[in-house]
Amino acid sequence: MATLEIDCPVCAEVLELTDADRADLQPGDVIVCDSCNAEMEVTRNGGGEDFELELLGVLTQCPSCGEEFDVTDELLQDAPVIEGVGGVTVTVVPCPHCHARIELEFEEPQDLSRRYHP
Ligand SMILES: [Zn+2]
Ligand SMILES: [Zn+2]
Repeated sequence: MATLEIDCPVCAEVLELTDADRADLQPGDVIVCDSCNAEMEVTRNGGGEDFELELLGVLTQCPSCGEEFDVTDELLQDAPVIEGVGGVTVTVVPCPHCHARIELEFEEPQDLSRRYHP
Protein backbone atom coordinates (compact mmCIF):
# COMPACT_ATOMS: atom_id res chain seq x y z
CA MET A 1 0.00 0.00 0.00
CA ALA A 2 1.30 3.41 -0.89
CA THR A 3 2.09 5.77 1.92
CA LEU A 4 2.33 9.50 1.47
CA GLU A 5 4.79 11.31 3.71
CA ILE A 6 4.05 14.90 4.64
CA ASP A 7 6.35 17.15 6.63
CA CYS A 8 4.48 19.02 9.30
CA PRO A 9 4.81 22.71 8.38
CA VAL A 10 5.30 23.64 12.02
CA CYS A 11 7.63 21.06 13.55
CA ALA A 12 8.81 19.16 10.44
CA GLU A 13 7.69 15.86 11.92
CA VAL A 14 6.88 13.38 9.15
CA LEU A 15 3.22 12.45 9.06
CA GLU A 16 2.43 9.25 7.23
CA LEU A 17 -0.85 8.86 5.43
CA THR A 18 -1.72 5.51 3.94
CA ASP A 19 -4.11 5.09 1.03
CA ALA A 20 -6.69 3.95 3.55
CA ASP A 21 -6.21 7.13 5.59
CA ARG A 22 -6.54 9.24 2.47
CA ALA A 23 -9.66 7.44 1.35
CA ASP A 24 -11.35 8.79 4.47
CA LEU A 25 -10.15 12.36 3.96
CA GLN A 26 -12.13 15.00 2.11
CA PRO A 27 -11.06 18.53 1.33
CA GLY A 28 -12.04 20.50 4.41
CA ASP A 29 -11.09 17.74 6.82
CA VAL A 30 -8.52 18.56 9.45
CA ILE A 31 -5.39 16.58 10.28
CA VAL A 32 -3.66 17.14 13.60
CA CYS A 33 0.09 16.64 13.98
CA ASP A 34 0.86 14.05 16.67
CA SER A 35 3.98 15.86 17.66
CA CYS A 36 3.06 19.54 17.96
CA ASN A 37 -0.76 19.57 17.67
CA ALA A 38 -0.71 21.80 14.60
CA GLU A 39 -3.98 21.63 12.70
CA MET A 40 -3.91 21.32 8.93
CA GLU A 41 -6.87 21.43 6.60
CA VAL A 42 -6.86 19.14 3.59
CA THR A 43 -7.29 21.29 0.49
CA ARG A 44 -6.60 18.67 -2.19
CA ASN A 45 -6.81 14.93 -2.10
CA GLY A 46 -6.43 13.42 -5.52
CA GLY A 47 -4.38 10.34 -6.35
CA GLY A 48 -0.66 9.79 -5.79
CA GLU A 49 1.21 12.95 -4.91
CA ASP A 50 -1.84 15.12 -5.50
CA PHE A 51 -2.33 16.15 -1.91
CA GLU A 52 -2.23 19.56 -0.29
CA LEU A 53 -2.65 20.91 3.19
CA GLU A 54 -3.15 24.36 4.58
CA LEU A 55 -1.93 25.18 8.06
CA LEU A 56 -4.78 26.31 10.29
CA GLY A 57 -3.06 26.84 13.59
CA VAL A 58 -1.46 25.21 16.55
CA LEU A 59 -3.65 23.90 19.30
CA THR A 60 -2.27 25.03 22.61
CA GLN A 61 -3.41 24.73 26.17
CA CYS A 62 -3.83 27.82 28.31
CA PRO A 63 -1.61 27.46 31.41
CA SER A 64 -4.03 29.61 33.34
CA CYS A 65 -7.47 28.09 32.76
CA GLY A 66 -6.53 24.81 31.09
CA GLU A 67 -8.74 25.40 28.04
CA GLU A 68 -7.40 24.55 24.61
CA PHE A 69 -7.39 27.05 21.76
CA ASP A 70 -5.86 27.55 18.34
CA VAL A 71 -2.92 29.82 17.74
CA THR A 72 -3.50 30.94 14.17
CA ASP A 73 -1.48 33.14 11.86
CA GLU A 74 -4.22 35.73 12.20
CA LEU A 75 -3.88 35.74 15.96
CA LEU A 76 -0.10 36.04 15.66
CA GLN A 77 -0.34 38.99 13.28
CA ASP A 78 -2.16 41.02 15.90
CA ALA A 79 -0.06 39.77 18.79
CA PRO A 80 2.62 41.98 20.29
CA VAL A 81 6.16 40.61 20.13
CA ILE A 82 8.36 41.36 23.10
CA GLU A 83 11.92 40.54 24.03
CA GLY A 84 12.11 38.29 27.03
CA VAL A 85 14.89 37.03 29.24
CA GLY A 86 18.17 36.40 27.42
CA GLY A 87 17.09 38.16 24.25
CA VAL A 88 14.50 35.53 23.42
CA THR A 89 11.66 36.93 21.37
CA VAL A 90 8.25 35.93 22.57
CA THR A 91 4.84 36.57 21.10
CA VAL A 92 2.09 37.41 23.53
CA VAL A 93 -1.35 36.06 22.70
CA PRO A 94 -4.50 36.39 24.78
CA CYS A 95 -6.37 33.28 25.87
CA PRO A 96 -9.87 33.52 24.36
CA HIS A 97 -11.32 31.87 27.46
CA CYS A 98 -9.83 33.67 30.45
CA HIS A 99 -7.89 36.45 28.62
CA ALA A 100 -4.62 35.51 30.30
CA ARG A 101 -1.57 36.71 28.38
CA ILE A 102 0.37 33.73 27.15
CA GLU A 103 3.93 34.01 25.92
CA LEU A 104 4.84 31.86 22.96
CA GLU A 105 8.41 31.38 21.90
CA PHE A 106 9.28 30.57 18.31
CA GLU A 107 12.66 29.24 17.34
CA GLU A 108 12.74 30.69 13.85
CA PRO A 109 10.94 33.79 12.67
CA GLN A 110 10.08 32.47 9.22
CA ASP A 111 6.52 31.57 8.51
CA LEU A 112 5.63 27.90 8.71
CA SER A 113 8.95 26.77 10.13
CA ARG A 114 8.53 27.89 13.67
CA ARG A 115 8.19 25.72 16.64
CA TYR A 116 6.07 26.33 19.65
CA HIS A 117 7.42 25.51 23.10
CA PRO A 118 4.72 25.09 25.72
ZN1 LIG B 1 3.93 19.14 13.93
ZN1 LIG C 1 -7.20 30.68 29.64
